Amino acid sequence: MSISENIAKIEERIQKALDTAGRKRDEITLMGVSKFAPIGQVEEAFRAGIRCFGESRVKDALEKFETFRKDHSGNSAAQIHLIGSLQRNKAKSAALFFDCIQSVDRKELVVELAKHAPARDEPLAVLFELHTGEESKSGFESIDDLFQAAELVLESGCLKPGGLMTMAPFTSDTNLIRASFRQLVKAQKELERRFPPKENWACLSMGMSNDFEAAVEEGSTLLRIGSLIFKE
Ligand SMILES: *Cc1c(COP(=O)(O)O)cnc(C)c1O
Repeated sequence: MSISENIAKIEERIQKALDTAGRKRDEITLMGVSKFAPIGQVEEAFRAGIRCFGESRVKDALEKFETFRKDHSGNSAAQIHLIGSLQRNKAKSAALFFDCIQSVDRKELVVELAKHAPARDEPLAVLFELHTGEESKSGFESIDDLFQAAELVLESGCLKPGGLMTMAPFTSDTNLIRASFRQLVKAQKELERRFPPKENWACLSMGMSNDFEAAVEEGSTLLRIGSLIFKE
């Protein structure tokens, strides 16, 4: 199957999940997670309508998207987000290159990004990654830590909060997966209450190849799909 056929299949499944939940297609962005995809495949996905890509490593993204960025600028530009964990020593290049850092998982990283983001033309969008049960330890563990990081972002003037990101545990137990997504929705509500306006926290980045339908039903606004798009 071609990449555009893969995307068409995924779109059908998204639509079914939306119908179940009584939601609309324009509430959700489909990101192509291109971390293992060569640029030719990225171009194919772009031609099929994908306008948001996710990369897990700073250096790979810089190399892969350098020309792509120049070729697709202006109205047809695609967003490129970092979704993998970010080391301090890469914070500068990440802050200058990406449209959004989805993997902000500790206060120190906020401080580091805020040092470099003023060199951008516009504020850098960030999402907070919440640890909701996936085995690897990335993500904030407590709502208090998350609140402190949110304060730093809001005070920075060069970082713009967008919402939350999580990875559900890798399991076939849909109850565990949904519990993880619900934890993200709960954290979003608490952030909305503590740090209005609501718009600051509108993005819920949750749902991958193996669990995106449940994510749509639980309220996801951004699906991060890699293997289903880029592997046949
Ligand atoms: C790789 C990755 C994805 C995409 O996973 P697939 O199972 O290939 O869809 C989504 N989010 C993050 C954070 C990832 O690292």
